[in-house]
Amino acid sequence: MSGDQNDISLYEEGLLKHVCPRCNFIFKHSTYPVECTNCGLVGRGFVTFGYFPNIEAVDILYSVFELRKHAKSKQNEIIKKIMFKLREAFNRDYDFSKIDALLGDFIDIMNDPKNLEEDSQRRINAIKVRLNLEHEEQTERAYSIVGSGDNINRLNKSIVILCASLIEIVFKEYMFKLIEHRTTKFTAQKLADMLKHHTVEGYLSQIDIFFEKGFKTEMNAFRSGFYDKWASLRKNERNKLIHKNSIHISFKKVEEVIALAKESIDLFSNLSNSLISNTQ
Ligand SMILES: [Zn+2]
Repeated sequence: MSGDQNDISLYEEGLLKHVCPRCNFIFKHSTYPVECTNCGLVGRGFVTFGYFPNIEAVDILYSVFELRKHAKSKQNEIIKKIMFKLREAFNRDYDFSKIDALLGDFIDIMNDPKNLEEDSQRRINAIKVRLNLEHEEQTERAYSIVGSGDNINRLNKSIVILCASLIEIVFKEYMFKLIEHRTTKFTAQKLADMLKHHTVEGYLSQIDIFFEKGFKTEMNAFRSGFYDKWASLRKNERNKLIHKNSIHISFKKVEEVIALAKESIDLFSNLSNSLISNTQ
């Protein structure tokens, strides 16, 4: 009834795909026996075919989904507890979505701080608007309920950091394939070793020479605007979030970052496949 998924199937979600050992094509196949949709090779699922993304990414993906399940139930628990306390205090019922939005307002204020006094007033205003409370005594009471440290979902930061790592791994896996495709396996291995400890930025500074129109253009050709979202998570969000805490991260943000990680897997499998179809 809760809608929680106890058994996470990355394969069913389309996040784990087969990789053909003959032509390297990445594909999802739901019938048996499995047949490569590019070259027609037939075999027994993951016994014959490799998988995409790599095991390191798959490991993280499972962790992300497990953590998300806990974070979601924690989020529900936090909101319901606030609803209960507000009912006790004001003898009024508030919507789940109102409390959720109010917690979001608090996080927004936290992420765009002015000064203590002003921020405090902004929170009071948010309470007035969302909870329809006017009297100072009431807003102060609601403030102490909503602003409590117990209402922080402490799993949010870990999930965002894991997703950022996942996106990086999937990108680097693709990068290696790309260099191998444009040069030789030997060169790709050498470059990958050289760039091993580089950040994605370091990779990107090298990767553009392999793209006629630039990496950004080619990435956006697959999905409009993806590059900027992807770059923003890596450059801004991740760095900001590593130095911040879960108190700054809404569960909505967590969902957005997970969606971006899933989209990255899809995008990079498409990009990898475009390398193959270009040669045949
Ligand atoms: Zn094949």
